[in-house]
Amino acid sequence: MTTANEHYFKLQGSYLFSTIAKKVAAYKEAHPDKQVISLGIGDVSQPLVPAVIEALHRACDEMGQAETFRGYGPEQGYAFLREAILQGDYLSRGINLSADEIFVSDGAKSDVANFQELFAPSAKVALQDPVYPVYLDTNVMAGRTQMYQNGRYGGIIYLPCTEETNFAPQLPAEHADIIYLCSPNNPTGTALTKAQLQRWVDYAREHHSIILYDSAYEAYITQNDIPHSIYEIDGAQEVAVEFRSFSKTAGFTGTRCAYTVVPKAVKVTAPDGSLASLNALWLRRQTTKFNGVPYIVQRAAQAVYSQQGRMQIQEVIGRYQQNARVILTALRKAGITAYGGENAPYIWLKTPKGLDSWSFFDKLLTEAQVVGTPGVGFGACGEGFFRLTAFNTAVLTEQAALRVAQLQF
Ligand SMILES: *Cc1c(COP(=O)(O)O)cnc(C)c1O
Repeated sequence: MTTANEHYFKLQGSYLFSTIAKKVAAYKEAHPDKQVISLGIGDVSQPLVPAVIEALHRACDEMGQAETFRGYGPEQGYAFLREAILQGDYLSRGINLSADEIFVSDGAKSDVANFQELFAPSAKVALQDPVYPVYLDTNVMAGRTQMYQNGRYGGIIYLPCTEETNFAPQLPAEHADIIYLCSPNNPTGTALTKAQLQRWVDYAREHHSIILYDSAYEAYITQNDIPHSIYEIDGAQEVAVEFRSFSKTAGFTGTRCAYTVVPKAVKVTAPDGSLASLNALWLRRQTTKFNGVPYIVQRAAQAVYSQQGRMQIQEVIGRYQQNARVILTALRKAGITAYGGENAPYIWLKTPKGLDSWSFFDKLLTEAQVVGTPGVGFGACGEGFFRLTAFNTAVLTEQAALRVAQLQF
């Protein structure tokens, strides 16, 4: 018999969303007259904007004509999209990068999951708790952890994100080789300020660590002191890789397009002790294992940077931001302490009266018919917290908010 990758057996079952679905289904069956509203979804609800749809149609027509048909494209993405990203997200913000430091992909999830394979199995990983579970699980699969015990994997440096610091992770006392930072953060909805991020960049430079910076929610930032890109921070181009996605920015969760920035100045140690370029390794990895994003999808992503496209996606993001404000107001009316929501489509509330995350889930479902996500599902430090998302429609979000505001504790 063929032996399996032993590390897969260290993974903890992800029962979070299936448990939620089961509880909701059971409740609906017992109460067929009640309308349940979900503020639990981490997916957008609004359709693609017209500028994107027009670009998709045009590109489809091109694919049907011999003169404009495209087969395999460049693995790193077409120049038209990389140039649009470079100009629209970086040069226009005073960040100097070049197009060959940008790699277009089919998702930030896959990029952030795949990127760890460029590092040694012995590399020491630090990550936030609570956080998007992909960083941890992919390092477990790669064998960078020991077994799971008492809510923790041995070998991982957990960075607790607590109320005391507005959920900003604190620098570890020990050495980390790879540091995952998610800002604005999923699930806490909070974001690192320039000053806080500068301390991480300084740490990485001092320790020769690499920061893997996930800014999938960058488009939701409203406050001036929150950086949109880690490259707004001095020295970051030598130590940081940035992951971005069109998923939450432009509703591409089902269309699939994202990109990763790997500056040429980021170096790693080669087996002979010399310095190697991480950009060259990622290029090698992508050209070997990935065959690019569909031409039509890259044209659609390019349209996000057109004048029309920008205005249209801003309008949609504005609606989600308004939903976030509606939820925050309702929670405060109910006397619940809530964080996030200002620079992210997520609200992170503190469960009242010391309820655990799951008890709060049950109360919200049975008394308000509103569904959210228990914080403990994102890490041990998420216990006692609960995530609500701003991605539902305005009408349903307002209905849910009315019910939440009437909750009694
Ligand atoms: C939604 C999300 C992404 C985006 O993933 P895609 O694969 O591009 O859809 C990345 N990181 C975080 C933290 C997310 O919540």
